[in-house]
Amino acid sequence: MTAAAERALLDSVPTGLFLAGEWTAASSGGTLDVTDPSTGEVLASIADATPDDARRALDAAVAAQDAWAATAPRVRGEILRKAFELVRERAEDFALLMTLEMGKPLAEARGEVAYGNEFLRWFSEEAVRVTGRFGPNPEGTGTMVVSQRPVGPCYLITPWNFPLAMATRKIAPALAAGCTVVVKPAALTPLTTLLLASVLEEAGVPAGVVNVITTSRSGAVSEPILTDPRLRKLSFTGSTEVGRALLKQAADGVLRVSMELGGNAPFLVFEDADLDKAVEGALLAKFRNIGQACTAANRFIVHASVADEFARRVTERVAAMTVGRGTEDGVQIGPLIDDRAVATSLALVDDAVAKGASVATGGAALDGAGSFVQPTVLTGVQPGSDILSTEIFGPVLAIATFETEEEAIALANATEYGLVSYAFTQDLARGHRLIDRLDTGMMGLNAGVVSNAAAPFGGVKQSGLGREGGLEGIHEYLSTKYTLIPAG
Ligand code: NAD
Repeated sequence: MTAAAERALLDSVPTGLFLAGEWTAASSGGTLDVTDPSTGEVLASIADATPDDARRALDAAVAAQDAWAATAPRVRGEILRKAFELVRERAEDFALLMTLEMGKPLAEARGEVAYGNEFLRWFSEEAVRVTGRFGPNPEGTGTMVVSQRPVGPCYLITPWNFPLAMATRKIAPALAAGCTVVVKPAALTPLTTLLLASVLEEAGVPAGVVNVITTSRSGAVSEPILTDPRLRKLSFTGSTEVGRALLKQAADGVLRVSMELGGNAPFLVFEDADLDKAVEGALLAKFRNIGQACTAANRFIVHASVADEFARRVTERVAAMTVGRGTEDGVQIGPLIDDRAVATSLALVDDAVAKGASVATGGAALDGAGSFVQPTVLTGVQPGSDILSTEIFGPVLAIATFETEEEAIALANATEYGLVSYAFTQDLARGHRLIDRLDTGMMGLNAGVVSNAAAPFGGVKQSGLGREGGLEGIHEYLSTKYTLIPAG
């Protein structure tokens, strides 16, 4: 990829706020810089919204709501389908943009475009499948009609780690259901959402149906939206800490909420696992997105009889990984999002080592520009190590051991999170026991990646509320209306 091609793409991305179908500067004239985490260089300066701008964004969403809800589901679906086609045409642009602003290797960014775009296709199809039901009431004195209505204007807040997929996973079902939205991407990676907004505009999304605000002051700028009684729904993806604070704010307006929060995924390897498959699954579950995924395997819990062999095989593979700027050929591990993330990962490594773990490979930052951490394997991680209870969000694979199935299940469930669990076993009966007993919203049984637009994504316990994708995803944006029609 040439520097000129990168510049040309960056110059084509809008830098304003997208309000009521217009691209506009922030009312204060303020801007914020977006940087490349692999070099620290500024990629673009974009509008830094004020609370007033946020109000204008909600005004636009409210003004567009009734007409969008009244638009035929087929028409809404066709607009989403058109957006899907346009993202597919511009797949390389979206992939490169994500690599530039977020750091993930280009091959993975292409994977995210394919995955993220599927939400536009899936919900373009679901738009026409929202149904209700009717029937006689038990007393036989009337007919009960149950229908589904769009919930109304929504505020969608997305994180930096999957800039396209986190946006489409919310925007597509909201629009399919007939809701208008204000979207606020993370300040670290807003460019992908701005490009997506321009594609949605081109696909025919009417003015005001999708509005985008970018800001360096998320709390202050979100406040006027969250406290406005015209807002009907908040959908948030991000950390459990911020999610908890937003839930408290949402309580005042009794808002509908969807919360996709943090994870602490266990990755169980049983003595009867196919170790080749377990190693492949482990590398995917851990190192995809440089370990910065809510679904990243956080704790490798391996049967003591196979732990050494499993560690030997993953270490060999991890030690051979290529680290570098995501645009370079063959790079498997890009930078972390910023230097703070580097410090967090390394502090977890240091704590684990102080408590008895060994570093099998990696364990340090890379010198020079950019926020790089060597891909790392830790063995013999001891109970009580912070790395077992904290979301790592970095390329560190931590291995602890177990002796019995009962112990493995107890360890897996010993967390306040419950987003996804991975388990590798060839024993079918054991697989079914794990499906029953692991406290988790999602599970990979002999699989290291589970996400799919056609499947319900979400967690239990403090990993969140609600589901995105699948048949369930659109219902997050619908409310149930019951009507009684007395008999003649
Ligand atoms: P974060 O919570 O710091 O930020 C998420 C979003 O919330 C950003 O847009 C941010 O600007 C905004 N935000 C922060 N404070 C706010 C406030 N007071 N009011 C309104 N908005 C505010 O999370 P992050 O660092 O961007 O993302 C990483 C986290 O996201 C990890 O914990 C990860 O597990 C989680 N995540 C979860 C899922 C999931 O589907 N469960 C998916 C991806 C990421």
